Amino acid sequence: MKVFREIHELRKYLKSERLTSAAQGKLLLTGLVPTMGYLHEGHASLLHKARGENDLVVLSIFVNPIQFGPNEDLDKYPRDEKNDLLLAEREGVDAVFIPTVEEMYPTPTQTKVTVQQLTSTLCGASRPGHFDGVTTVVSKLMHIVQPDHAYFGQKDAQQVAVISQMVKDLNFDVRIVPCPIVRENDGLALSSRNVYLSPEDRNAALVLSRSLLNLKSKVEAGEAITVGQASKEIINSISAESRAVIDYVEIVTFPGLMAMKPDQVLAEAEEEVLIALAVKFGTTRLIDNIILTKKGEALHV
Ligand code: AMP
Repeated sequence: MKVFREIHELRKYLKSERLTSAAQGKLLLTGLVPTMGYLHEGHASLLHKARGENDLVVLSIFVNPIQFGPNEDLDKYPRDEKNDLLLAEREGVDAVFIPTVEEMYPTPTQTKVTVQQLTSTLCGASRPGHFDGVTTVVSKLMHIVQPDHAYFGQKDAQQVAVISQMVKDLNFDVRIVPCPIVRENDGLALSSRNVYLSPEDRNAALVLSRSLLNLKSKVEAGEAITVGQASKEIINSISAESRAVIDYVEIVTFPGLMAMKPDQVLAEAEEEVLIALAVKFGTTRLIDNIILTKKGEALHV
C-alpha cells in the first residue's frame, strides 16, 4: 500500500498505473473513498465495496477545514493516522492520500462549488457553508484521482443527494455508489464523533436509532402512519431523553429533499422517503436516518 501526501506524486502514480494497464490492453477501474480519517467499520464497509468493484482503490484522509463552521469541532476532530493505515491495509487499499491543509489549499481560494436547493435544508440549514466545503473538496479529490466510482455512506444521506446532484450538473465522469449505514450492535450509527460521547451520553444516544427503528417496524407492519404522526412520535421519544437536544427531525423525499405534507401516509408515498435527524448530546452533534422505499420497506437501517 502506498501513502501519498502530495498531489503531484499521487497523480504521477495513477498515471503510471493507468499507462501500464493500457499497455496490456486493460482498463484500470479506480474507486475513490473520501474520508476525514479516524476510520471505523463504517468506513471499512465503503472500502470493502470499493475493493470488490475496482482494480485500484484510493482512500483519501483529509480533515477539510472549509466544511467546518467557526464554532464547530475542527480543532478537536479525532485523528489516528497509524490506526487508519492499519485498517486501510486490512481492506486492501492500494493508495492512501493524506494531504496537508497547505497542499489542498496553498493560497486563499477564490473558487468554490455550490449545490443550491438541496443544501438549504436539514444539515445545510444548521451548518451554513458546510456543503460548499464538502462539494468543493470532493470536486478537488475527483479531479486529482479521476475515479470511475466514488463511495459515500448513507449515514450522510444529504451528502449523497448533494454530491449526486453535483456530479450530474457538472458532468463528472464518475458513478456515485451509496453504501448502507453500519451500526454498533446496540443500534448506534458508527461515527468518528462517537468518541466524544461520555458513557451517559452514548447510552442516551441510543434513542436515535431506537426511534427510527420503531418507526420502521410500524411502517413495515402496515400501519397507516402519516408524516405528521411519525415526526411527532420521533420528536416525543427523543425529547423524553433529557440529555438530548434536537437540532432537527425532518421527513422529506429522497433524493429531492422536498418537504412532505403532514397528512401523507408514509407507506403510500410516491417517492423514497428520508427520515433524518440531528441531535446534540452535550457538545456532540450526532446525525442518523432511515430511508423508506416506495413500498414502505426500509432500505438502509
Ligand atoms: P467521514 O470520515 O465522517 O467524513 O465519513 C467518510 C465517509 O464514510 C462518508 O461517505 C460517510 O457517509 C461514511 N460513513 C461514516 N460513518 C458511516 C457509517 N456508520 N456507515 C456507513 N458509512 C459511513
